[in-house]
Amino acid sequence: MDKNFKSFLKEVFGKYSTDLSGQVSQAFPALSAVDPDSFAISAVTVDGEVFEQGEVSRDFTIQSISKAFSFALALEQHGSLFVESKVGMEPTGEDYDTIIKLDDKNRPFNPMVNSGAIVMSGLINPREKATREEELLDYFGKFAGRSLKIDEETYRSENENGHKNWAIAHLLRHFNILTKEYREVLDLYFKQCSILVNTHDLALMGATLANDGQNPITGIKCLSSENLRHVLSILFTCGMYNYSGEWAFDVGLPAKSGISGGILLVVPGVLGMAIYSPRLDKRGNSIRGIKVSEELSDRFQLHVLDYTRKKARIN
Ligand code: GLU
Repeated sequence: MDKNFKSFLKEVFGKYSTDLSGQVSQAFPALSAVDPDSFAISAVTVDGEVFEQGEVSRDFTIQSISKAFSFALALEQHGSLFVESKVGMEPTGEDYDTIIKLDDKNRPFNPMVNSGAIVMSGLINPREKATREEELLDYFGKFAGRSLKIDEETYRSENENGHKNWAIAHLLRHFNILTKEYREVLDLYFKQCSILVNTHDLALMGATLANDGQNPITGIKCLSSENLRHVLSILFTCGMYNYSGEWAFDVGLPAKSGISGGILLVVPGVLGMAIYSPRLDKRGNSIRGIKVSEELSDRFQLHVLDYTRKKARIN
């Protein structure tokens, strides 16, 4: 199938290979040390078919894309009513690491900003595994279809330099949103951001979200249809930092971005896709990632609210 999709990937990869605009994140030393010009695109369909271009085996840290999956795990472990009592579902219009903004129910605004994501990390319990860290790694690995590991250097770099995240954790403790274990919770959050993935992994993780929560390669069901809907809804409204509204308008797909330069996109019922290119725009999104996504959505009429989109096809 899908000569068109294959040639589309080749074409956009070639077209944007020479686009070297933007800067890699300077948030902390381990992030700024990456090769700025790396570029990779992977897509995995719900039938398990794979299309790729570029450095698809190059590992990078998952960063904020992890928030989609820790939110999914919190939903799976506790159910949505309980999770919603701890975090709102409203975009903030503010930076992802804004010190703290709570809603009228004393909750962080949503699980995709750092304060909400740290609260989600605090909900992860060891159920199938001995520790919270193993539980989380195991869960992420079910989406990726292989066991994943933490990049120790990035984890240490985040821990030592993540003063804003420490401030957020202290304030969450101050407001009694986190318990006295808040240091361990933040530690888990730093670790989840430091998990190594490549675009192949992320595309398969996206394909699992596109395929009713079932990994199309391993067949493992990772989350219920109801929780999947919750995850995709929040990715649609809050997944792309302060660009989420414009992204919904232009691209119209659930997605999540990370400051290491990854973007994960979900075309429900069709495919998962990942782009890696660490040069970012001022909101923290991969510049080449945004451009490729816009062309993808246009070319194959993938905007989920497009009336003319009969049934999304990639051929
Ligand atoms: N570990 C980073 C932080 O918490 C993640 C940032 C991101 O990718 O948005 O600040």
